[in-house]
Amino acid sequence: MQDRPTKLKEYQTYIDGKWCDASSGKKFQTFDPYTGEPWALIPECDAKDVGTACEAAWRAFDKGPWPAMSQTARGKLLRRIGGLIEKHAEHLAQIEVRDNGKLMSEMHAQTKYLPEWFYYYGGLADKIQGAVVPSDRPDHFTYTLKEPVGVCAFITPWNSPLMLVGWKLAPALAAGCTVIIKPSEFTTASLLEFMKLVIEPAEVPPGVINVVTGYGAVVGEPLVTHPKVAKVAFTGGTATGARVNELAAKTFKKVSLELGGKSPNIVFDDCILDDAVSGAISGIFAATGQTCIAGSRLLLQESIHDQFVEKLVAMAKQARLGDPSKLETQVGPVTTPPQYAKILSYIDIAKGEGAKCVLGGGPATKEEGGGKYFVKPTIFTGVNNKMRIAQEEVFGPVLSVIKFRDEEEAVAIANDIAYGLGAGIWTQSVRRATSVSKRIRAGTVWVNTYRAVSFLMPFGGYKASGLGRENGAEAIEGYLQTKSVWINNGPGGGNPFIMKTS
Ligand code: NDP
Repeated sequence: MQDRPTKLKEYQTYIDGKWCDASSGKKFQTFDPYTGEPWALIPECDAKDVGTACEAAWRAFDKGPWPAMSQTARGKLLRRIGGLIEKHAEHLAQIEVRDNGKLMSEMHAQTKYLPEWFYYYGGLADKIQGAVVPSDRPDHFTYTLKEPVGVCAFITPWNSPLMLVGWKLAPALAAGCTVIIKPSEFTTASLLEFMKLVIEPAEVPPGVINVVTGYGAVVGEPLVTHPKVAKVAFTGGTATGARVNELAAKTFKKVSLELGGKSPNIVFDDCILDDAVSGAISGIFAATGQTCIAGSRLLLQESIHDQFVEKLVAMAKQARLGDPSKLETQVGPVTTPPQYAKILSYIDIAKGEGAKCVLGGGPATKEEGGGKYFVKPTIFTGVNNKMRIAQEEVFGPVLSVIKFRDEEEAVAIANDIAYGLGAGIWTQSVRRATSVSKRIRAGTVWVNTYRAVSFLMPFGGYKASGLGRENGAEAIEGYLQTKSVWINNGPGGGNPFIMKTS
């Protein structure tokens, strides 16, 4: 078990290659969600600090070593970052567990995997290239250049703080952008440790990566509206995403949004039952249900419904709640007090709507392995897809089970939702797997697995789940823009009052 010191650790933030306090000198406390106790102090930045960081990021983009660095050298720098993450993986995992309440077992997996993003995009850095385009007029040479969009603002959430920064940072740096990161006020510490242990020793030039810590609107809105920011990459709730999109539109910034979900996990009667039960559990109770890809709507074919629910409840009942720093713990605390209140309110809403609670349904006490912000793994059956518990994102360990008759009805229910982030399909039929995958309106479909992500595979949402894609070669395009260059090697002339066409 990790030690939990009583003296508050004091952090500084990182702007223009220097450690500093907020310009106001203010700090706020960050809490350990398992104990409910404050453990560190974080600088409370405001619009002034945002301005300083944006100017630094612009200078670093415009002049100095960063724009002069070859693409190959940028690739090497990314690979150095990956190596340093590997070196400090255990420490970074411990900080995330303390600040976020994430399970140590999950954090071991995340911090060991995160370097791959930097190796992959490091490899792609010098494969970014434009094209020579055939010209339709004599003596002209035409080509395109791929150029970085400029200064990028990242606004990241509390549910997987470091990983979601990494997903943005690696392609942005590979493209040649500079960056300002605003982490969630609830989970800032791991990013500041990352800056100290990884970014500083990797010798990333000053101003290329800056961090402004503080409260959502106070820091986030000046960042999204700052004239030096060319692109905003946001992960978080749909309502905040809409606000960010609206603000960014006023100055025509490029925007990518990774938002919420209410993903259908569809189990057909020809599935391998035990695999599907385990997939349903992983879909909703992993990360205490606090993931945008949670399989929070479990669609069960009616012929296997009762048998499936029995097995599901039996397995979920055995989940070990407790200290997230212990490797044997399977369900940890909810990360933030507002989120805890929100989850409990949705449990009440579901009960009020007439859904049947067959497991959990409230806070988990100390005797049950719980504590201050614990919610019992909760399963509702008899859910109708029109209910709020089926339509709205809870972002917690609360599963809605919905019955369906056949493939047609399963697809209709799955798509009858504002979101479109992920979906699961459990079947042994190749025909059904391919046909249903095609008909589901979501950015990711998992067949006979759930919650798999990789640096190689694009990730993002349809509908209200977002705009743009992270991961895979596609993500780098979001940090690039295309310039067309026309060179006339022949004589000038012609009528200057009309557009030059061939
Ligand atoms: P938010 O969407 O509010 O937070 C995401 C990020 O946006 C945080 O860094 C937050 O800062 C920042 N932010 C908040 N307000 C503004 C603003 N006006 N302008 C710019 N940035 C802002 O998530 P919440 O923590 O409020 O969670 C709300 C719901 O969103 C959850 O219940 C869940 O349903 C969903 N969610 C989805 C996530 C996903 O991965 N898709 C991740 C997190 C939440 P700060 O934290 O400091 O307020």
